[in-house]
Amino acid sequence: MYELNICHLYPDLLNLYGDRGNIIALSRRCEWRDIEVKVENISIGDTFKYENYDIVFIGGGQDYEQTIIQDDLMNGKRQEIVEAVESGKVFLGICGGFQLLGKYYKTNDGKEIECLGAINIWTHGGDTRLIGDIVFEIDFLKNNGENYRVVGFENHAGKTYLGEGVKPLGKVIKGSGNNGEDGFEGAVYKNTFCTYSHGSLLPKNPVLADHLIMLALLNKYPDFQGLSPLNDDLENLAHESLIKRFIE
Ligand code: GLN
Repeated sequence: MYELNICHLYPDLLNLYGDRGNIIALSRRCEWRDIEVKVENISIGDTFKYENYDIVFIGGGQDYEQTIIQDDLMNGKRQEIVEAVESGKVFLGICGGFQLLGKYYKTNDGKEIECLGAINIWTHGGDTRLIGDIVFEIDFLKNNGENYRVVGFENHAGKTYLGEGVKPLGKVIKGSGNNGEDGFEGAVYKNTFCTYSHGSLLPKNPVLADHLIMLALLNKYPDFQGLSPLNDDLENLAHESLIKRFIE
């Protein structure tokens, strides 16, 4: 029997727009396939050892919550998070979590907040918030032979830029994406996936959810043969109807 251990970092502080739905989607899609799942919540003061987990998730928060966890993150968990990302652990970061995984966050008033530096990205606070529904396409996942379209909801003041070695997760079709300028959305480095999409991301985009599950299983069980298909009729209907509503 296969088994996956999922870590939810700071669920009590970084959980905007139902980010926890990502954990629920990962868990249910595993359980429906008889893959055992254990979820552990790790927050301020808790020890985080990345070897204990197969998937690590960090959600979004306002600047305020990001400041509350700053000390715990930078002085308690930084080393383990950087090593987790570098080791190829499956990691998902949404919005504030995406920003925190980067090198720094320079606020609007010029203050530079040091971040984890786990991936080569950085964020500058903008004058206006980038808010609304977002659709972007991913070229490494296909749906009926076409690039997979991800649908979500973004709300951020931070504008994020990608450095060398980091690829965008996708190309924006509707919405602002990372910075409203270069047409890119999110970031991929090794098995770390980041995006500005709340909403929650994975229940709305089951193909992406399965991609993360599959990578985690392959990491743990090198002879893993692939995920059995699920009946996603309802999920696909919701996914397609949202995309239609937002871009047509
Ligand atoms: N505080 C960050 C910003 O506004 C992240 C917001 C979020 O996680 N939605 O840019």
